[in-house]
Amino acid sequence: MIRAAFVICSILLAWLPHVEAAADAAAPDPAAAPVRHELSFPQRHNQYVHVRATWPTGDEPLELVMPAWTPGSYLIRDFSAHVEHLRARTPDGRVLEARKVAKNRWRIVPAGASEVTVDYDVWAGELNVATSWVEADLAVLNGASLFLFSDASRDGPQQVAVVLPEGWSGVHTPLRATAKPGVYHAADYDELVDSPIVAGNLSRHEFKVRGHSYALVLGAGDRWWDAAKAQEDLARIVEAQQEFWGVNPFDREYLFINLFMGPFGGLEHDHGTVMMVDPWQMLHRADYVKWLGLVSHEFFHAWNVRRMRPQALARYDYGQEVYTQELWLAEGLSSYYDDLLLFRAGLIDVADYFDLLAQEIRNYETMPGRHVRSAEWASFDTWIKQYKPDENSVNSTVSYYRKGALIGFVTDTAIRRETRNSKSLDTVMRELYGRYGPDGPGQGAYPPGAFEEAVERIAGPAVRRYVEDLLRATDDPDVDAALDWYGLILNRAPARTAAENAGAPVPAGFGVAWDASGPRLLAEQVILGHAGADAGMLPGDELLAIDGIRVGPVDHVARMQRLVPGQVVELTLARHERLLTLRVEVREEIEERYLILTKPKVSQAEKDRLSTWLGRELRFLR
Ligand SMILES: [Zn+2]
Repeated sequence: MIRAAFVICSILLAWLPHVEAAADAAAPDPAAAPVRHELSFPQRHNQYVHVRATWPTGDEPLELVMPAWTPGSYLIRDFSAHVEHLRARTPDGRVLEARKVAKNRWRIVPAGASEVTVDYDVWAGELNVATSWVEADLAVLNGASLFLFSDASRDGPQQVAVVLPEGWSGVHTPLRATAKPGVYHAADYDELVDSPIVAGNLSRHEFKVRGHSYALVLGAGDRWWDAAKAQEDLARIVEAQQEFWGVNPFDREYLFINLFMGPFGGLEHDHGTVMMVDPWQMLHRADYVKWLGLVSHEFFHAWNVRRMRPQALARYDYGQEVYTQELWLAEGLSSYYDDLLLFRAGLIDVADYFDLLAQEIRNYETMPGRHVRSAEWASFDTWIKQYKPDENSVNSTVSYYRKGALIGFVTDTAIRRETRNSKSLDTVMRELYGRYGPDGPGQGAYPPGAFEEAVERIAGPAVRRYVEDLLRATDDPDVDAALDWYGLILNRAPARTAAENAGAPVPAGFGVAWDASGPRLLAEQVILGHAGADAGMLPGDELLAIDGIRVGPVDHVARMQRLVPGQVVELTLARHERLLTLRVEVREEIEERYLILTKPKVSQAEKDRLSTWLGRELRFLR
């Protein structure tokens, strides 16, 4: 059943935690009594959240910690930098010293009190899916950036009361509601941190798939959004992925929280995802397909990452970097399946899918950094590379999303080839989930090498060795051989082919990505191995003239189109406000797009393999 609903529950709580504390004091057992957090927004117009939290205490000092990062986003964010006015007191109002002992740690001596209440303000003005954002009529809250924990209470129950300002109509969170309006419950701190809380005036559209409840929550600014169509398409993604995994892991409603703000992206949670997109994301088909891919990716994480993840991430160390070499599996294989499952769900056609795969290959092959770091080491270095991109990232590392997706593609093909198309990467993923999902012996985490072992169990030792090389080496996955097995070929130079066929000069350039968004034309990335890098151009250089003729952000594209490979030109550049000239031999420009095509003659065996892989009958091949 699919229905739309608008949640209206005006809750204005006059909730006094210290009064509650007195009522709950009858059960002082610290093991059972929840930590009680309360969120209110008296200074929301300045982007502050007020947090009041109460810990049951014993004789030991209470050490309170703020996470340095949030699961799913591997960057030290030092959330404690935004904590202000932290103060502690006993239930009877005695002030206690809260002494800061590390950048994200406070020590409080309870001095005989059975509970300690801490008040603090958090500035919530960082806009992305891994942080918190508050303004006059909206709060988007990530638990790791808000809630303190103590080692002693981390595994115990947590309670959150959300005090809504006047005019805010509702709270949307996967946290379980309690009997008290506006009060939610989490089994432990990890669940609290994993449960986003959004509040304000958002619309909510509920639907069911295979009897299970889902909801699409839309932020303000949905005027260009067709909620009914989005909800229908979400249901197809859910259906395809439930079909893929064969296990429904949810014990409550799953929330797709879609906000029309911030940088494009999503963050996965056990029972939901928070996504940030453009308000006009649905207007053009390519943008909408990108959104569907995001949804598919985040939803796939409900199994791959949330409920089955690398051992190193099994119990989060919130205080520091956690190292794993397996983000190519957690993220890369999720990237392989996000678009493939859109096709299996019938949301994109085969041309769309081939185009998405071709661009994935193109973007991978135009990164010289792919020969610097392997998929495993790019995973390990995520804290200093993937999440800290700079001008030279393209030359110094590879995206484990992108390479992981291509490893997924060629591994899938190798398994199918070895097993005469009777098994696939799908089989491996399901087998892994059975073993390392929450109900398997691995209890939600896999040790290093688990994937390679599963590949061997399904497809034999040769495919395992093939996969190990892919993961450890900086060589390119042989995508051409894989495509060929399905009767497909990759055209890496469609622009050159088109120019040659038209008798026009082939596209030429310097191997530089330009930033033409401002008044000056700046080199954003200088790709190693290409003409600009060989001549000594640097990121940040401003291009002023080619052969003495002025060039700028507006006319550079037209000017570049008149360059010819082999021609030597003199570039006038400005670097640190000094002028310099470089002589550069123009070369063929990096192709903007690749194309996947069917071979001129496709055999019946190739057609059969293609249909089995893509999971749908392909009419154009008949
Ligand atoms: Zn992801």
